[in-house]
Amino acid sequence: SFELLEKFRDPALSRKILDKMQSELTGGLRFMEVCGTHTVAIFQSGLRSLLPEEIVHLSGPGCPVCVTHESEVNAFIDLAGKDNVIMATFGDLMRVPGHNGRNLKKAAADGARIKVVYSPFDTLKLAKENPNDTVVFIGVGFETTAPTIAGTMKMAREQGITNLRVLCFHKTVPTALEALLTDAMSNIDGFILPGHVSAIIGLEPYKFIAEKYGKSAVVAGFEPLDILQSLDQMIGWQNKGEAHVVNNYTRIVSDDGNAKAREIMYEVFEPVDALWRGIGLIPGSGLEIREEWELFDAKKEFGITIEDSPALPGCKCGDILKGIKQPDECPLFKKACTPANPVGPCMVSTEGSCAAYYKYKLD
Ligand code: SF4
Repeated sequence: SFELLEKFRDPALSRKILDKMQSELTGGLRFMEVCGTHTVAIFQSGLRSLLPEEIVHLSGPGCPVCVTHESEVNAFIDLAGKDNVIMATFGDLMRVPGHNGRNLKKAAADGARIKVVYSPFDTLKLAKENPNDTVVFIGVGFETTAPTIAGTMKMAREQGITNLRVLCFHKTVPTALEALLTDAMSNIDGFILPGHVSAIIGLEPYKFIAEKYGKSAVVAGFEPLDILQSLDQMIGWQNKGEAHVVNNYTRIVSDDGNAKAREIMYEVFEPVDALWRGIGLIPGSGLEIREEWELFDAKKEFGITIEDSPALPGCKCGDILKGIKQPDECPLFKKACTPANPVGPCMVSTEGSCAAYYKYKLD
C-alpha cells in the first residue's frame, strides 16, 4: 500500500541510519548492487549523494541488455531481415549497437520485420497470424524472464504452434557474481542482490558468497530505507569480521524462491557456458534450450554459433559491469556517448549504469 511505501521512504529514519553508518565505518565499503533497478533507485532517491564518502558504490552485471555479448547482439541483428523471419523483441534491444553501427531500429528501417512485444506470450498470437513466417523471439535476460519464456514455449507446443523460435541468450546471476569475486580487479566487499531474480531462485544459490569468499550479500527492496538498512548491516558484519547472505526483502522474496518457476525453466532450458559482455566466458552461466525442445531453437534452425569477438571500440561497459570503472571514467561518457546517441549498451538501457549516471548524477 501507499502507506507501507511511505514508511520505507521516511527521511528522519534514513538520516538516523546514515549517521549510524558514518559512526560505524572503520574502513571503506565497496558495495555492488547487481541489478539496474537498484542503480536507478539509488540515484532517483538521492541516496547516492547522501552516502558517506568511504562507501564506494559500484553498479554490477544485472542489466540484461548490458551483459548481452557483442556476438549475441550481432547475431540477432544479422538474423533480422532474413526472408520469412519476423523478429520479436522487448523494446530495449532495438537500439543496442552491434557491428558497423547497426541496430535493430536501423534494420527495421531497411525493411526487416521486427515486432516489439511486451510479453513473450504475445509471440503466440504473432506466430498464429503469420503461419508462413518464422517468428523469432530474442530471449535476453536472467532468471526473471527465462521462466516466462519457457512457459510460452510450453504453451506453443500445447497449441500446436510450429513456427515460433527462441534465440536463447539467457544468463544466470549467481555464476556471474562468482566470476566477479575471483577477479581481483573488482575488489567487492558486499553485494545488494537483485530482488526480482531472487524471488525466483531464493537464497541458496548465493550462499557461496559468504561461505567460499567471506563476503556478504543482501537481498534488498528498492526503497531508500531497504537499501540503507542493508548497507548498515553489511558495515556491522564487516566490523565484526563476519559474512552473511540474508534476505531483507521478505515482503516480496521468499527464502526458497519460486520452485514452480524454476521447474518450468529447467524443464525447457539447461545450463551452458555463456559469454558475457566485458567478462567473457563464464562456465555454466547461460541457459540453452534442451534437445527435447529443439523445434523451438533458433540457433539450431539458423546455424547460429556465438564466439568471442572484440569489444566495441572505446566503450568501457565491460569494466563498468565488473565494478572496475565508473561510467564518468569512460572518455566517451556525455561526449560521443549519450542516451540519444548511445555507443554502448550501458547507455541504451534505462537500467544501464551509464544511462543512470547521465540522467541523475549531478556534478
Ligand atoms: Fe560505453 Fe557509452 Fe558507457 Fe562509455 S559511456 S562505457 S561508451 S555505454
